[in-house]
Amino acid sequence: MVRAEGVRKRFGKLEVLKGIDLTVERGQVCCLLGPSGSGKSTFLRCINHLEKVDGGKLTVGGELVGYRQHGTRLHELREREVAERRRNIGMVFQRFNLFPHMTALENVTEAPLKVAKTSRSEAREQAHHLLERVGLGDRAHTYPSQLSGGQQQRVAIARALAMKPQLMLFDEPTSALDPELVGDVLDVMRQLAADGMTMVVVTHEIGFAREVGDTAVFMDNGVVVEAGDPRTVLVAPEQERTRTFLSKVL
Ligand code: ATP
Ligand code: MG
Repeated sequence: MVRAEGVRKRFGKLEVLKGIDLTVERGQVCCLLGPSGSGKSTFLRCINHLEKVDGGKLTVGGELVGYRQHGTRLHELREREVAERRRNIGMVFQRFNLFPHMTALENVTEAPLKVAKTSRSEAREQAHHLLERVGLGDRAHTYPSQLSGGQQQRVAIARALAMKPQLMLFDEPTSALDPELVGDVLDVMRQLAADGMTMVVVTHEIGFAREVGDTAVFMDNGVVVEAGDPRTVLVAPEQERTRTFLSKVL
């Protein structure tokens, strides 16, 4: 579903991704870990067309990110085409960024109504179903300010799912939450994984990565240092850099 081969990205003189190789198969959960500044968010943003890759090859669902193939020639995607591709990818950030003036239900129906042109009744029915799924069936008419951080984050997940994405990207979805709220959000993600969603999750929740991840990828300084079975990478890593990092976050 996601394939990166030698993916490079620079901001001015700073090379942030120095040749990332990584594969996420359909239905798999890939957990991405690494110190601050190692390029995790940048890599997710590349997958989601929020940043342009400078080198290497990045494909999502077999399609080259940013380009359309015509015969043997590559054409850069137009804005409208980028938007179409991005519809297949849901993204959840550290900060929930829900629309504050809309209820939970309205947050979830917004994109289906405006972007996918779903009928109002269908969008609402689907949104109710999604809010049930994230454990907020009774909070449909509540505004974000009246929800806890964990509840807001679960609405954000429901909102991302409303576009029926093939791939979900999570960028430290629990790191802004009070500790007692983390579990509910991880439970929703765990369920999503069990339902077969393909997911790339930047997280320092080692327990989650070990239990739910099909692969764990440790990044440092723009490269993949170590990748593989989370029960190896996160329990008995081969690389000293991975060990040092884990000893700090555990
Ligand atoms: P964190 O754990 O703190 O979220 P990260 O691994 O997600 O870190 P990135 O956010 O990908 O790291 O940033 C990697 C590097 O790229 C950092 O040095 C950051 O300052 C730099 N960077 C990110 N975005 C930009 C940008 N738009 N312009 C310039 N530099 C950037
Ligand atoms: Mg980040």
